[in-house]
Amino acid sequence: MPLYEYRCEPCDHPFEALVRNGSDVVRCPKCDGVEVAKQFSVPAAPPSGTLGYAPVSAPGLSMGGGCARPGCGPGGCAMN
Ligand SMILES: [Zn+2]
Repeated sequence: MPLYEYRCEPCDHPFEALVRNGSDVVRCPKCDGVEVAKQFSVPAAPPSGTLGYAPVSAPGLSMGGGCARPGCGPGGCAMN
């Protein structure tokens, strides 16, 4: 059951609410209003502006030899 952060529009009261499904009506616990806005501050989300992965360089593959490990050159692979 996801926990969402909301903010009441009329009284500007921030609160958290458990939502069982999308059709649930979320009410402000302070003024019992239904004009609430869902907040999108998810703590588990990765910081914006950072990539989820780094490009992997594999010089051994592009040069047609070696095992693509760092330090492994064409024709001089220790794994072979
Ligand atoms: Zn309210």
